[in-house]
Amino acid sequence: MYTLASILPYIHTKRQLVHNAEQPIYDLAYDSRKIRNAGYSLFFALKNVRDGHTFIPDAYQKGVRAFVVSHDDIDTSLYPDASFFWVDDVLSALQELARYHRKKFKKPVIGITGSNGKTIVKEWLAQLLQEDKKVYQSPKSYNSQLGVALSLWNLSDDYDCAIIEAGISLPGEMDHLQAMICPDIGIMTNIGVAHADGFASKTLKITEKLKLFKHTKNVIFPSRYGFEEYLPAETSMFTFGEGDMDEVKVLRIEERRDGCSSIQVSYRQEIVTFTVPFVDKASIENVLICLTTLLFLDYPLDTILHKLGRLRPLEMRLQLKKGRNNCSIIDDTYSNDLASLQIALDFLDQQQQHKKKTLILSDMDGLNDHLEAKLLSILRQQNLNRIIMVGKSLSRLQDKLGTILVFFDSTEELMRNLGNMVFENESILIKGSRRFHLEDVSKLLVAKSHETVLEINLSALEHNLQVYRSMLPLNVKLMVMVKAFSYGSGSYEVANLLQFNKVDYLTVAFADEGVELRQHGIDLPIMVLSPDEQVFESLLTSNLEPEIYSFRILRALIDFLRIRKQKAFPVHIKIDTGMHRLGFLPDEMDELTTLLSAAPEIKVKTVFSHLVASGNKQHDDFTIQQISLFSSSADKLEEMLGYRVFRHIANTSGIVNWPSAYMDMVRLGIGLYGVDMDGKLTLEQVSELKTTITQIKKLPAGATVGYDRKGLLSRPSRIATVKIGYADGYSRRFGGGVGEMSINGQRARTVGSICMDMCMLDVTDIAAQELDEVVVFPDLTEAAQRIGTIPYELLVNIAARVKRVYFYG
Ligand SMILES: *Cc1c(COP(=O)(O)O)cnc(C)c1O
Repeated sequence: MYTLASILPYIHTKRQLVHNAEQPIYDLAYDSRKIRNAGYSLFFALKNVRDGHTFIPDAYQKGVRAFVVSHDDIDTSLYPDASFFWVDDVLSALQELARYHRKKFKKPVIGITGSNGKTIVKEWLAQLLQEDKKVYQSPKSYNSQLGVALSLWNLSDDYDCAIIEAGISLPGEMDHLQAMICPDIGIMTNIGVAHADGFASKTLKITEKLKLFKHTKNVIFPSRYGFEEYLPAETSMFTFGEGDMDEVKVLRIEERRDGCSSIQVSYRQEIVTFTVPFVDKASIENVLICLTTLLFLDYPLDTILHKLGRLRPLEMRLQLKKGRNNCSIIDDTYSNDLASLQIALDFLDQQQQHKKKTLILSDMDGLNDHLEAKLLSILRQQNLNRIIMVGKSLSRLQDKLGTILVFFDSTEELMRNLGNMVFENESILIKGSRRFHLEDVSKLLVAKSHETVLEINLSALEHNLQVYRSMLPLNVKLMVMVKAFSYGSGSYEVANLLQFNKVDYLTVAFADEGVELRQHGIDLPIMVLSPDEQVFESLLTSNLEPEIYSFRILRALIDFLRIRKQKAFPVHIKIDTGMHRLGFLPDEMDELTTLLSAAPEIKVKTVFSHLVASGNKQHDDFTIQQISLFSSSADKLEEMLGYRVFRHIANTSGIVNWPSAYMDMVRLGIGLYGVDMDGKLTLEQVSELKTTITQIKKLPAGATVGYDRKGLLSRPSRIATVKIGYADGYSRRFGGGVGEMSINGQRARTVGSICMDMCMLDVTDIAAQELDEVVVFPDLTEAAQRIGTIPYELLVNIAARVKRVYFYG
């Protein structure tokens, strides 16, 4: 273990102020919201979206006493007992430390890079190797300049090998990752199209990625990409493919009807055939990478094949579901190690909807004294009301924690006793390694509902938020539209994440939506669009701020506030600069300000307008005119009121196309939810609507499918019935082959009319079986175009009865 003194030689400091050189350091911190082990953390003031130096007071207040910084002008007298290390570049210092720590690990480190498939190959390899080794793997998305450093920091002698993923988006980045990871064995998964990220050509991209392996002796890859040309001559390469030079030669790949593929390969004179539960090319290539790696590691072929058959697609991590008795269930029953436990606990922390929190935790593989001490320290930092522990070895934690502890020897024993325990109005994190099958416990605690689900990827949402945030100058505030159930994707679940990420404002369409957010612990300022008189009372009691768009509503509000003796109630004035929907017209400014000036009941917090065509070049002149009309109206308003009023006009497309319209704040909507109407950004998909095949039947040519015999079959066909209909928000306009869904990566068209709760698909030409998962909108924008609408409408029409499942990571 480290102390400040022992760390010091490995970060190049320009200057230092050391208070307690013997302070032990266990954790590296960079986000003051996520600090756990404050007294034992070294805080790095990184320049991320925000400058980390601004969080020093918060970190200090939480108990952190050691900081690595780059600003010269820190007033250290404010932090009397803290140590400071000044460096030129805080991230480099963190990386140097990680590099030093990595060097102490003498067992093999496998480094993985490539355009796609890195994470899945990493996870699969870990699964395959875990049976006889203790494997350390970098947590799911920790593959960046920062993520890799943090992952390496958790390496320890408790492991037999490590698998570390490296991801880059710009030239020049790989050198840093290489220096830290120093892989002993390299895996390059594949290479994608060049312009999809920050590289000018494919050659540049390959060259850059392969820098990870510049000192690596052995590199494994699919031969079809020709990576060998780019590797140093002394590298020993271990490849698979169809060529004679390949160590593992792929002879045949056959897709089967049941959604499996059979693969034949030869290796050192031996020819074998095996089956894997996938048909798509990418998964098959990933399986072959794993196979080749295990062969390289000298596992016997028959052992490997046996293991490969058990691989499954990666499950979602950290799902957030509605539980019975008004609980929130966070289901993370796929693996259990300290790093992923920490991530899951952070996520539990973010859940503001319930005060009470329970952790259900399984045994951790290889729990020795050292890991136990770490586990205890993590659990002690967490505000938990009780911990339910499953597995014999956890009983050693008895009496070592202040929380209520309940022990069960096995999952079965917990299940038998579940009925005797009370779970209500609380957030429950279920965290366990795969062999404990805690998903069975989760199933019992989750509220039952319809089988069609909308999956919402909260980390994608967070990513998209950062994409837009990084475009904004620091002084521009960010308001996020969570109206219409967050464009269909949920209320407090999404708002919680936005609150955690410190956006400045939220906006809802109706007061009810705002009230619900308040009831679930959201305390950000909330603007309510187009309120009417009936909701004034709840505006007041729930601390919601109305948009004021007409004289009628303004007068009514003033009267109401006067009776309630309220002063300076915050409102937002909407100006109609061309939308001609709601708002005061620019020539009504005089009358408006006269009324406002005489009303101490009201305080104008912001003034705003809405651009009608910020994403449409054809109307740029009109947009410019709107911006200028807005500015002059706002000037007038501000002048007459005599105080500063914040201004905002830009929506998502405005953020992308009109930096001149940022003003004091912008209003982010559709872009957050992953729809890039301007086609200029790399957003991540946030929501996916999924259903299942209930039945498949073979029908002869001439048969008809569905109501009014609309679906006439022109050939013998296989028809699948899926559990989604227009009552779920799948429009009837998708009937008759207009709509396409995706099953096992292949498209299937609708047949006949869409029914209320179901519809039928033609699966004659594709691998599909009953209970298969179906992705309803493989491409949201394309689906919207097919029925002459826009993605917004498809998203918000997804019915409330469709269960929302949230996941993170
Ligand atoms: C919905 C809405 C937005 C967000 O629009 P997007 O195009 O989704 O970014 C901004 N402002 C107002 C007033 C809105 O109603």
